[in-house]
Amino acid sequence: MEPFLYLHAMKSLESIQNFNGTYPKQLWSLFFTEMWERFCFYGNRGMLIIFMTDILGHKEAQANLQYGAIQAFVYAFTFIGGLFADKILGFQKSLFWGGLLMILGSSILGYDGANYFFIGICFIIVGTGFFKPNISTMVGELYKPGDVRRDAGFSLFYAGINIGALLGGAVCVYVGKTYSWNLAFLLSGIFMAIGLINFLLTRKNLGPIGLVPQTENPQNNKRNQILVYAGTLLSLPLVYMMIKNTAYTDIFMYIIGPLTLVFLFFEFKKLDKNQIKQLIAAMIFIFLSIVFWAFFEQSGGSLSLVARDLLSNDLGIVKIDPNVVNNSANSFFVILLSTAIGGLWIWLKKRNLEPNYYQKFGFAFLFLGLAFFIFYSLRFNLNSEGMASLWLFTLAYLIISIGELFLSPIGLSLMTKLSPKHLWGIMMGMWFLASAYGQYFAGILGAGMASPDENASLATRLDGYTQGYLQLSIYALITGLVVILASRWLKGLMTSKSA
Ligand code: GLN
Repeated sequence: MEPFLYLHAMKSLESIQNFNGTYPKQLWSLFFTEMWERFCFYGNRGMLIIFMTDILGHKEAQANLQYGAIQAFVYAFTFIGGLFADKILGFQKSLFWGGLLMILGSSILGYDGANYFFIGICFIIVGTGFFKPNISTMVGELYKPGDVRRDAGFSLFYAGINIGALLGGAVCVYVGKTYSWNLAFLLSGIFMAIGLINFLLTRKNLGPIGLVPQTENPQNNKRNQILVYAGTLLSLPLVYMMIKNTAYTDIFMYIIGPLTLVFLFFEFKKLDKNQIKQLIAAMIFIFLSIVFWAFFEQSGGSLSLVARDLLSNDLGIVKIDPNVVNNSANSFFVILLSTAIGGLWIWLKKRNLEPNYYQKFGFAFLFLGLAFFIFYSLRFNLNSEGMASLWLFTLAYLIISIGELFLSPIGLSLMTKLSPKHLWGIMMGMWFLASAYGQYFAGILGAGMASPDENASLATRLDGYTQGYLQLSIYALITGLVVILASRWLKGLMTSKSA
């Protein structure tokens, strides 16, 4: 019986992977599930800092730190979620469990966010940890090793992420500010539930993808799963303690990164030389992404303060709140450009002109550097009231979004390409752990640019930020050039049929 089931499952996986056309049909179900999850996530994210300052009465500095801690933990837990999915729950169950926790968290905030804020947030942090890396890993499983359509699939999936982010970020903040924060939090929970129902209804099409990993003793499977569920609930008070006190965030960040490296080194023992080389390549991409996100994530921090206080609201044809631009321009441009860039890779590949992955990452940094140079140049483009140009600000977002598309969807795709299948969840978790460090360092960089004098003139504050952006621009350009120059040599690490 067992071998039959196994063969049957394998056949079904093959039929999934032997799809015709550009995209497998299962991609759409993952696309919509992730879209609604991001609606919930970015909806909540957009509300956090405003809710903490306006409703909970936190001072801005404290709210910023707390915001950074929450964001860092959200992404750090994706590593833990990826680990348990790989070893015990499988991707489908992890996703379901994570989604459930996120719905619960949003409902708690919807019920009484003012009194139970951090409790609700804990559920959302842990829930996202189980959800976010594992859905991306399942996208990877839709493709055979070496399938050239993989990157285009991840690009499309990435568009789904950003449609959800755009809708959630805009709708929840609007409903929260205009009607009620409780309703807005509840709304994010409702859309998460829609995403989860969509997944449950369509998951049969995934065949064996994401099922519980087979172990030698299936008796233990159930017990281990129950232990994970119980362990998750027991960890919630610990998470609560850590986000309430941001000093613990530092300790946590010092520990989790090195610990994951130690874990990976142990895994090295079970791998052959070629697999190790590929994992090292993946680690280089992960390291580069930390630097990228640390700059990029100024968006939620220092750039929102610039948008709030120092920008004009004139976009030429319309007048628009600069914070709305700051919160939505990135997702808007990603949606606009993602299929075009996914298609560009296929087009270039057919002509043997496609840049290699290191070159793409290098270009991502060049775009990032250019965008920060434009942020720097805001200081030279002021209107008669001394407010900086919203046009230039938006242009910088267009360019930064192109950079993101050269790195982020490709990074997701690479994690499944460069690691052996039993490590996919963990490597995806590590990819997002890099975002956690990015968020963490972004806060530190942003704090360094802020004027120490809260009552400084607008011009002095703009000078402080834009001077910082010039430095980021230079560092990004240098990183981009170095990566592009070293790309031929680095490419050697990725040698395998699948890379
Ligand atoms: N915007 C993307 C997402 O939400 C990437 C986020 C990240 O990895 N920092 O998935």
